[in-house]
Parts: sequence; C-alpha cells; structure tokens
Amino acid sequence: MYSILLGLQIVAVFISFIIIVAIGLEKPSKTQMFLLLASIASFLDGLGYCFELAARTKEEAILAIKVEYLGLVFMMPFLVMFMARCCHYEIHNAVKIFFMLFAGAVYALVATVEKHSFFYREYFFDAEAELPHIVSVKTPIYYIFLAYNAFLMIVQVVMAVKYYHANKERDGKGVLLVGMAYLLPITAVVTVIVFFGVPYGYDPVPISQQAASAWIFIMVVRNRIFDSEQIAKDDMVVNIKEGYCVVDLNMRMLFKNEIADSMFPELTAQETQAKAIDMLFSSDGETLTVGDKKIAIDVQSFYDKNTLKGYTVWMYDKTDDYAYTQRLIELKEQAESANSAKSVFLANMSHEIRTPMNAILGMSDLILRENLSEEARDNAVNIRSAGETLLNIINDILDFSKIETGKMDIVQVSYRVADMIHNIESMIAVRIKERRLELIIEVREDIPSELRGDEMRIRQILINLLNNAVKFTDEGYVKLRVWCEKQGGQFRLYAAVQDSGSGIREENLSGIFNSYERVDLVKNRAVEGTGLGLAICKRLVENMGGAITVESEYGKGSTFTFYVVQEVVNPEPIGSWEKAGIQKKQTQAKERFKAPEAKVLVVDDTKINLKVAVGLLKTLDIVADTALSGMECLEKVKEKEYDIIFMDHMMPEMDGIEAAKKIREIEGEYYKNVPVVALTANAVNGAKEMFLESGFQGFISKPIDMDELCNCIREYAKDKIIVK
Ligand code: ADP
Repeated sequence: MYSILLGLQIVAVFISFIIIVAIGLEKPSKTQMFLLLASIASFLDGLGYCFELAARTKEEAILAIKVEYLGLVFMMPFLVMFMARCCHYEIHNAVKIFFMLFAGAVYALVATVEKHSFFYREYFFDAEAELPHIVSVKTPIYYIFLAYNAFLMIVQVVMAVKYYHANKERDGKGVLLVGMAYLLPITAVVTVIVFFGVPYGYDPVPISQQAASAWIFIMVVRNRIFDSEQIAKDDMVVNIKEGYCVVDLNMRMLFKNEIADSMFPELTAQETQAKAIDMLFSSDGETLTVGDKKIAIDVQSFYDKNTLKGYTVWMYDKTDDYAYTQRLIELKEQAESANSAKSVFLANMSHEIRTPMNAILGMSDLILRENLSEEARDNAVNIRSAGETLLNIINDILDFSKIETGKMDIVQVSYRVADMIHNIESMIAVRIKERRLELIIEVREDIPSELRGDEMRIRQILINLLNNAVKFTDEGYVKLRVWCEKQGGQFRLYAAVQDSGSGIREENLSGIFNSYERVDLVKNRAVEGTGLGLAICKRLVENMGGAITVESEYGKGSTFTFYVVQEVVNPEPIGSWEKAGIQKKQTQAKERFKAPEAKVLVVDDTKINLKVAVGLLKTLDIVADTALSGMECLEKVKEKEYDIIFMDHMMPEMDGIEAAKKIREIEGEYYKNVPVVALTANAVNGAKEMFLESGFQGFISKPIDMDELCNCIREYAKDKIIVK
C-alpha cells in the first residue's frame, strides 16, 4: 500500500512539473504568470509531501513539511490573483502585499517550527504507521491559516459564480469550472477525513490539490478562455481589416490573412507567390492600383532580440480615402475656379465700366469749363458727382476682386507722413464742408517724418474710413488721430477715425468687416455703398502686418482704429504736422498756364476718350493730334516731333506697351528720349514701376485728373509754357 500511495504521489508531482513547463514555455502573459506561480506552489506542496512520505527520521519529515508549506502558503493567494484576472477584477496592491506578508509570516513560523510552539503545540514522528508521518497537536494559528485558505477558496468561487452569471454566453462556464476546481476535490477529501479519519496515515489533501491544478490547466488549454490577451492578439491578426503577410529573410511566406489573399490573389497560388512578394516589396510606401482598388503597401522589418527575422507586409485598402480625397480636390478646384471666374468677371466688368466712366467724368469736366446757365451747370455738377460715386463703387469692386485673386501686392515706397495727412485732409475737406461737420486732426509730434511702406494703400484705408465717418454722421465732428508705437521690434503706425454719427448696433459689430456686409439698412438706405469698403480695409491692413478694430455706441458714434507695420526712413520727429506740410503745399499750389506751342499726341482706341483728352488739353490752349491705334501712332511720330505722347495702355492689336517699345526702336536720338506717358484705367499699385520699365516716362490714371495732366505738361514741355 505504501508503495502504491508513494507512487501515486510521485506521478501527481511529475504531472505538476509537466504543467509548469508547459505554461512557462511560451512568454507568459500576466494572467498566465499567476497560474504559473500557483502551479509552482502546488508542485512544491506535492513534492514536500512526497519527501514526507519517504522520510525515515523526524528531522527528514520536518524538512519535508517545510518544503510542503513553501508551496502551500502561496498557492491560494496566487490562485485568487489568477481568478481575479480571469474575471476582470482589479486586486488592490495593498491586498496583494497583505497576501505576500501573511504567506511569509506563516512560512516563517513553519520554517522555525522546532524552536517554538506557535504552529504545532507538539509533534512527533510516527515511524510505526504504514505510512510514516508527523503527528502534531495544532495551535489556533494553524487553524487561522486553514480558515484563511478556505476563505480564499470561497472568494474564488464567488468571483467565478458572479462572472458566470454575467458571461453565460461567452466564457462564463469555463471560468466557473476553474473557480470550482479546488472546492470540489478538497471538500470531498475533507469529508472523507472527517468521517473516516486518515487512512493508513495518508493525507489526501496534497494529491487533491495537484488534481485541481491539473484540472485548471486542462480547462485553460481546452477552452483557451482565460488568456484573453493571447486570444485577442490571435484574433486581431486573423480578423484585422488590413491585408497582412509575414515573410522570412528568404522571402518565404510564413503567414498571411484572408484579406491579403483577396487583395492580391497572386499570393495564394504557389507559382505566383514569389513574384507577388517581390512586387509588394518593390512597392513599399506606394499606393498600387489593383482593379478598381487603391492599395497602399507598407513593409516593416521584425526582430527577435535585435536580430532581423523577417518582414511584415501591410496592405491598406485606400479606395474610399482616395475617392474622398479626389472628390475634395475636385470640389476645391471647382470652388476655386468659380471664385476666380467671379473675380476675373468683376475685374473685367469694372475695367470695362471705368472706360465709359472716364468719358462721363471727362465730358462733364469739359462742360463745366464752359460758360453755362445756372441750371445747366447744376446738371453737369450732378452728372459729375454721380459719376464719381459710381467710380468709387467700381474701384471697390476692382480692389476686392484683386485681393480675392491674390493680385493685390503691397508696394513699399518712402513717404513723408505730413504730406500724406495733408493730402488726405484736402481730399476729405470738401465733403466735410458739404455736410457742415467739423474735421479734427490730431497727429502726435513724435512720429518720424519719413516712413517706408505702401503709402497709397494706407491713404486708401484712411479715405475709406473717413468717407464712412462722413457718410454716417449728420452733425458733430469727424476726428482723425495718428500716432506710432514700437512693439517687439516692429514700428507700428496707428490711426483712429472717430465720428459722432449714427454708430453701429452691437449685434452688427462682429460682421462689420465681412464683404458685402451693410448694416442697419432701413436707417442707412439713402447712403450709397457696396459693403466692400471695410472688408478691403481689413485685408489691406492685414497684408501690411496690422490689424483693424471697431468700437461703437449706437446713436453716439464709432471709432475705427488700425495699425500697419512700417519702416522708419527718417527718424526726425514730424513736430507740428501742419507746419511740416506747408512747404509742400506751396509747391503744389495750382498755377494756371497755357502752352499753345506744345506738340502733343494722344493715342487711344476709344474716340470719346480721345475727345476728353483733347478737350482737357484745349483748356491749356494745346491743340493735340490724335491716333486711334498703336500703328497710327507710329506713323504720326515718324511725321512730327512731339513734346509729349499720351498713350492708352489697353488697345486691340498693338497695346500701349508694345507701341512705346516700337517707338524706342526707331533710329534716332529723338525716339530714344521722346516722353511717353501712359494713360491707364488700371491704376494698380506697382503700375508706375511697370510702365517705367517698359520705356514710359510716367503715367496718368483715367479718369484723367486735370492737375496730373498739368504736372505732366509742366515737366515735359517746360519751354512751351506761358504762365498767365
Ligand atoms: P459701404 O460703406 O460701402 O456700405 P463698408 O464696408 O465701408 O461698406 O461699411 C459697411 C457697413 O458698416 C456700412 O454699410 C455701415 O452700415 C457700417 N458702417 C461703416 N462705417 C460706419 C460708421 N463710421 N458709422 C456707422 N456705420 C458704419
């Protein structure tokens, strides 16, 4: 009997050992790790019992018990931790620490059992029994340890049952069977001992524990239900939405999923596989077109402890993404082309409209120079003022469409701040007077006298804001303040335009800089405008590295403040701006003159424009020749030596630029130097530079301004001038 029982025990321990090797062979997950530790504990327990059975002396038996307990104290805590992971419970670290301390304390008592009576009150070795073993009288500590183990067993069962209820359809049953593994054999064995005593002195508890361990292992392997990490990983590789294959260093296929097969059927057949792998490798990082699909290929190396083992090839189906991106690109292109068509249309339209506007304004100017009856003069003034309003609107549209198409360049020039302010003052003064408002200008004396920036655009912004202020103010004042600040290495020129006018409702303030936004239309319906002015100001200010803001109180007035980044050319302070401008003003003073001897040629393809120019020149007693095309102009210049040629820019067949070039090409000193001045309706910034480069001496924007015309004659036909 002794040999049978010892043999049985040895087999059980051997099985435990096999289980440990089986679990420990692959790199264990955390769940597996707890099962492994519990199995090692169970193995030590069984092994210790084997030693006890084989012991021949009391000392050998006590040593065997120490080995037994080394397993016993840790077995249940590790099993609880394993079960907790299976059932997705988180065990608090403090509890884990308690488990280990308790096990350590019990083991310390067992390890020193000969030296005290805390664990066994007394014990002796029954060498006479069929199975020699230690007979002991236990202390309460022993029973506490027993109860503690029983408690941990119950905890496992409770966890398993709860999990089973929640996961009946999934892995609940397997978890329950594992949870119950210890309960059933151990209850059975304990019942046998209670009712029948220990037969032959053989303790069946250790072997029942080994049986339970084996049972757990079998459940784990059979159902693969506890190692959800591994299952999830396997599942991911197989069911991943991307095509995926693994090849070794010799390009032999190790694994591929079904998606890879469906994406590249060549991967399936042995004969075509090598070629297909080759093709995938050479397409790394590219997107292949396979039938109507777009498949992106990504090849990754994989390593085992820094040694290259092979490659994984990922195949991503990008068909939908590709189609979506294509659609977005198409929509973007459509939107851009619609927008640019709109802008081009607006630019062309406004250009086209400017040409007849030139005629309307020019003709009304000519009429106003004649001796008219009161009524006729009134009518002509009205035509002129309506024409000017229309021209302003057209200019806004033209500017805006240029900003939209990105054609609005910022041109940096050096300018005198005082001159700019004087100029603005003179431009706005007439309207201020008409509306009986007060114009207040405050310019800080420390502003550098000369700056570099886009003077024309700054002027445009200021005129726009001042015009708005005048438009929306019935009584009171319009105030312009100019100052400067240095911030973060930037020189900022600030200006604020304040009025005591109608103000803007708070709810309208946020949209005020949007294009085509006109607010309070009921109240302002009599005020002309396009709703583009502020949008243009904002874009221009931003193009110059600045910002614009508005503050307004409805019924009380508004203040628009902006700054632009400028360079300082002459840091000398401007001082009193009024004085700083006087000198300039004097030179600007209009002296009327006549120049009947001046020989002038005007070239324009539009007859009415010719008439306007000729008419304006006639007021200076100049009898101008005309040409309706570039060709005609060339013929005329060969016949007569002109003092000055006014040349339209846009003409069919040969435009002004080409005609000017042709003039310069004619043999003779005169043709190299004859002043050619461009007449253009396209007075954009940078136009001056463009004309100068093309062989022009200067340019006048249409509608022709009489002062500009006079300045030209004064400059190029100086010796023909008779001052009255
Ligand atoms: P426009 O003046 O051509 O209508 P803007 O873009 O210059 O276009 O102005 C947009 C709107 O903002 C105006 O129609 C007006 O309602 C409001 N606005 C602009 N400036 C003022 C101001 N100084 N006082 C009151 N309302 C203003």
